[in-house]
Amino acid sequence: MNAILPPPASVADLTEAERTRILAKTARFAPPPARTADGRTDLVGLTREELVAELDRIGEKPFRAKQLWHWIYHQGATDFARMSTIAKPMQAKLAEHFIVGRPEAAVVQTSTDETRKWLFRFRDGQEAETVYIPDRHEDRGAVCISSQVGCTLACRFCHTGTQALVRNLGAAEIVGQFMAARDSYNEWPSPKGETPRLLSTIVLMGMGEPLYNYENVAKAMTIVMDNEGIALSRRRITLSTSGVVPMMDRCGEELGVNLAVSLHAVRDDLRDEIVPLNRKYPIAELMAACRRYPAASNARRITFEYVMLKDLNDSEADARELVRLIAGLPAKVNLIPFNPWPGSPYETSTPAAIDRFSRIVMDAGFSSPVRTPRGRDILAACGQLKTESRRERPPAR
Ligand code: SAH
Ligand code: SF4
Repeated sequence: MNAILPPPASVADLTEAERTRILAKTARFAPPPARTADGRTDLVGLTREELVAELDRIGEKPFRAKQLWHWIYHQGATDFARMSTIAKPMQAKLAEHFIVGRPEAAVVQTSTDETRKWLFRFRDGQEAETVYIPDRHEDRGAVCISSQVGCTLACRFCHTGTQALVRNLGAAEIVGQFMAARDSYNEWPSPKGETPRLLSTIVLMGMGEPLYNYENVAKAMTIVMDNEGIALSRRRITLSTSGVVPMMDRCGEELGVNLAVSLHAVRDDLRDEIVPLNRKYPIAELMAACRRYPAASNARRITFEYVMLKDLNDSEADARELVRLIAGLPAKVNLIPFNPWPGSPYETSTPAAIDRFSRIVMDAGFSSPVRTPRGRDILAACGQLKTESRRERPPAR
């Protein structure tokens, strides 16, 4: 008689196990507590429930959380003394226990094309960059936010990829980048509804892989989307991933933000080399995850980012294979001319090659804009971000 074998682990179980592994690794690079040296808690980055709990700790009722939420995220107030609906003695009590923090802008540079880059320093001295890219035709623009200091992945064409992961950014630090950018353009209070605003969208396309810091990113985006605060709709937020397949499903279900996928190559042999994460989650799995992404079935387009590398991934055959991969998906292809950085090993494709590639994609019915490099003069363009932060090594014995 045959021995009865246990059923094979289902794909769902494997995905769950993989997610658990990713989240455990994320925790090893956790940010320090959002607290000042004198023990005050930063209220930025707390969920509504956490805010209620903090207030309870000092004997205050939940309605205060609603009041504070409005001042912090709608009005952009950082000083309790400015919160005019709160009585003076209460303002003083709050200031004793709490702060409304911002990352410190260590360096601010503005490009000749108006792109602005901040080097933000966090409480523990670690640094990450944030970029504001104004639209060239209208009074709006995108804030490009970092999710990690450094990156565990080492995509060959990316400057951030040469900086080892130092740590994950906390929710306070992620929301804080957007709030500090708003401070710098005097964009408070949060505009209501569809009122035009300069800082109109968020792209999680700065330093780091957001899906390797999912929980902090998700918390930060939930805060940003809250209707009584910054109130940015999920359609105005785009998360870019190099393809962390198991986390894409969670992101789609829980956040429903727009998805951008850093594809960059259409064959596994080449993608294995330039986006090494491909060895773990190859193209077929990545494309299947895209097809499952809930926003895509709602006809919201997935953006495929494709860096144009001379003679490497820019042939007509590559373009045709790309079209085959995305066939049937609501998709758009963003062609990014390679942005060089000090010591970078590649050259950007010729304008003729980019044009030829773009035409093939467009002829197949997909929008295929070429992303104009912005802020190259201040190393603010895609893939050029990097800071001096290093992970502290334990002292040698
Ligand atoms: N880690 C995420 C988020 C970063 S987004 C991700 O990789 O998707 C930054 C985008 O710029 C990604 O599509 C990235 O692949 C691309 N990029 C990286 N280096 C680049 C370079 N030197 N020139 C052009 N694009 C680059
Ligand atoms: Fe990390 Fe994205 Fe750069 Fe790759 S492209 S090294 S995933 S930041």
